[in-house]
Amino acid sequence: MTEKIYGGIEGGGTKFNCAVGSGPGNILAEARFATTTPAETIGQVCQFFMPYADRLQGIGLGSFGPFDADPTSQTYGYITTTPKPHWSNTNVLGMLREKLHLPFAADMDVVVAGLGEAKWGASKNDSHSLYLTIGTGIGGGYIVDGKPLRGLTSLEMGHIRLSRDPQLDPFQGACPYHGDCFEGLAAGPALQARFSQRGETLPDDHPYWEIEAGYIAQALVNYILSLAPKRIIIGGGVMQKDFMFPSVRRRVQELLNGYLSHEMILKRIDEYIVPPALGGRSGVLGSIALVMDSDK
Ligand SMILES: [Zn+2]
Repeated sequence: MTEKIYGGIEGGGTKFNCAVGSGPGNILAEARFATTTPAETIGQVCQFFMPYADRLQGIGLGSFGPFDADPTSQTYGYITTTPKPHWSNTNVLGMLREKLHLPFAADMDVVVAGLGEAKWGASKNDSHSLYLTIGTGIGGGYIVDGKPLRGLTSLEMGHIRLSRDPQLDPFQGACPYHGDCFEGLAAGPALQARFSQRGETLPDDHPYWEIEAGYIAQALVNYILSLAPKRIIIGGGVMQKDFMFPSVRRRVQELLNGYLSHEMILKRIDEYIVPPALGGRSGVLGSIALVMDSDK
């Protein structure tokens, strides 16, 4: 029997990554398209999949947000209230279905990246794993036994409250809803607003990086205490700085202060808080994982 193949789409705010295959060891084709207008970008995505349409079992979509990932909602598959020009209230899933008559499954980008890591990557042996991205925005996906956790709504882990010392960091936050929530303090736009430059260009020895690591550690401690993930994977631009992982791990240990006496936290924190193992492919592979698992 020939192996079943699937399509994966990681729909991001700057580009759409597409792939055809069945996992990291079997990618038959890949392409990326700039995120311009829905008609142009989704048109290119459909063109890419068209030659494979007869062989695909289905297509998974992981979309940038805010994205309605509730299959029972009237606006399931829509990008909803994004400030991104042209994309507000766009029925992405509907546009794909119109041209590609295949089974689809869709969720938020960070959730599918978490699924990809849970199926094939850094948390493949863990029943409970947390995937967090810290970049232009902050979001998290919590994967339990191969399924994303959702309840009343999707999880919105970037908008939790943290404590901020106004003496150390007088910045009042960049979140239009909450001011100094986690995303409002620690995502790319917050760094840009504080220093009038992108985080990438802020020198490695700038004292702010210690404060940034402190915010990330505070958030992680809240997730550890309330969700007890067995592995925490952090992707996104901010963690590309090679000193960030060691700094965040140390701060997590300091904040927990011995309260949780598990060896993963006390002795093996280097294996506990880790970068994605699938690199830049967590999202597109996760989209394949999403539709693959819905096909069973
Ligand atoms: Zn917020």
